[in-house]
Amino acid sequence: MVGSIIDGKQHAINLRERIKIATDNLISKYGITPGLAVVLVGTDPASEIYVRNKGIQTKEADMESLEFRLPEDTSEEKLLKNVKDLNENQSVNGLHPVNSGYLASGLKGMVPCTPQGSALLIKETLGDLSGLHAVVLGRSNLVGKPIAQLLLKENCTVTVCHSRTKNLKEVCLSADILVAAVGIPELVKGDWISPGTTIIDVGINRLDAPEKGPGKTKLVGDVDYNGAIKNASSITPVPGGVGPMTIACLLLNTLIATCEQNNIEFSKLGF
Ligand code: NAD
Repeated sequence: MVGSIIDGKQHAINLRERIKIATDNLISKYGITPGLAVVLVGTDPASEIYVRNKGIQTKEADMESLEFRLPEDTSEEKLLKNVKDLNENQSVNGLHPVNSGYLASGLKGMVPCTPQGSALLIKETLGDLSGLHAVVLGRSNLVGKPIAQLLLKENCTVTVCHSRTKNLKEVCLSADILVAAVGIPELVKGDWISPGTTIIDVGINRLDAPEKGPGKTKLVGDVDYNGAIKNASSITPVPGGVGPMTIACLLLNTLIATCEQNNIEFSKLGF
């Protein structure tokens, strides 16, 4: 039986609708509008699209969007000064690395956007995750480690794999939940997937696609989608899976940070 597609776009639309309602409550009750600032250095086309979508979705959630575009040759010193100024700007609601410590200790704090988006997709797909074997490919501070911590919190048995892991195929075959966050196009093959596995493909890899025309490219994940969907119970596509959830969770974090900075209880916003 072919697995079902986890529609990250639709999950993200639903989440953004709830964020907008809570933001409107914040504005009407407390007169405070959350602000999200994005700093883009250079003109990388993929980053341009990402930044544009962030700007559009921030405004759609009734938040303030600030964009700073710096030339490719901006010095590190100048960039850091820009970020420092934004941190000191009261209308911008930022984050802090201390949150990774909170997450590791199971304490309340900000959760990074991509891991949070991935965990939400898993929970909305499977419900109770207690006792399930989750295999996370990748151990980066940005993605792999925080996803593993979130799944531990959901009472999964978590295995974290990385570039030195032996018998990767065998480990993947033992997964109930497989999260791939490696950055290698289609590393995970269809025959690495046991029947019934839920797959979250975090990877975003841009490949040449001459079949689409000269100079054209396409995005693929870390999982061979067409091979894996034959065995998986469900799988996120790339694009349209984790990516949209990342932006939605960024908006959620902006709202939570605004509440923290203004001593407002987030739970009072009706989210
Ligand atoms: P990273 O390069 O920091 O980390 C990659 C990890 O993969 C490392 O821990 C490494 O040990 C592991 N790895 C490398 N080769 C491996 C192999 N052969 N087998 C098993 N593990 C291996 O990358 P990252 O920042 O964690 O990002 C991972 C992927 O997720 C990238 O494709 C990135 O573009 C994507 N990403 C997507 C989103 C999103 O919103 N969807 C957000 C962030 C990152």
